[in-house]
Amino acid sequence: MAGPNSLHALIEALRRLPGVGVKSASRMAFHLLQHDREGAQLLSQALGQAATRVRHCSQCNTFTEGEVCDTCANPQRDRSKLCVVETPADQAALERTAAFKGLYFVLMGKLSPLDGIGPKDIGLAKLFERAQDGVVEEVILATNFTAEGEATAHVIGEAMKARGLRVTRLARGVPAGSELEYVDLGTIAHALVDRREK
Ligand code: ZN
Repeated sequence: MAGPNSLHALIEALRRLPGVGVKSASRMAFHLLQHDREGAQLLSQALGQAATRVRHCSQCNTFTEGEVCDTCANPQRDRSKLCVVETPADQAALERTAAFKGLYFVLMGKLSPLDGIGPKDIGLAKLFERAQDGVVEEVILATNFTAEGEATAHVIGEAMKARGLRVTRLARGVPAGSELEYVDLGTIAHALVDRREK
């Protein structure tokens, strides 16, 4: 019974991915086993390695394999500015503009009470501790311009101001409802340079 059991286990494992139901999980499993055994091996190795090696940067919370990520370890970065983003993809979007030389904090999500995502799930305590290192002077809120991103920015902004830090928000060049990842470079760079006091 090794065959069917293994197949069943594979389908169940694939179903853990977001948005994947039993039908698409079966299709993926059949495809890998029928047409792409090499791909199946690659996937298995890559998953195993990533799951073992990837962890969160102790300073900015993004994914990294070391204790501290390359950006946080870079001595050229301006340590007085801390830009708060939702995801590594948003950080990458800001980095591509080359308009920001400070450091980041990556929430790895956003506050979303309706989905049961609260302060603990996005590491707000870690951010508050990080921002109070005595070097950070300005916290730039670069969460997305969606309802949840705005709510997240509000909660963080109030907490940071209460701790005596300067708080700014990306300027409104970025269309409402949009995610930074999908906004063009010029618009993001402009929003960063024109950021407003909160
Ligand atoms: Zn880092």
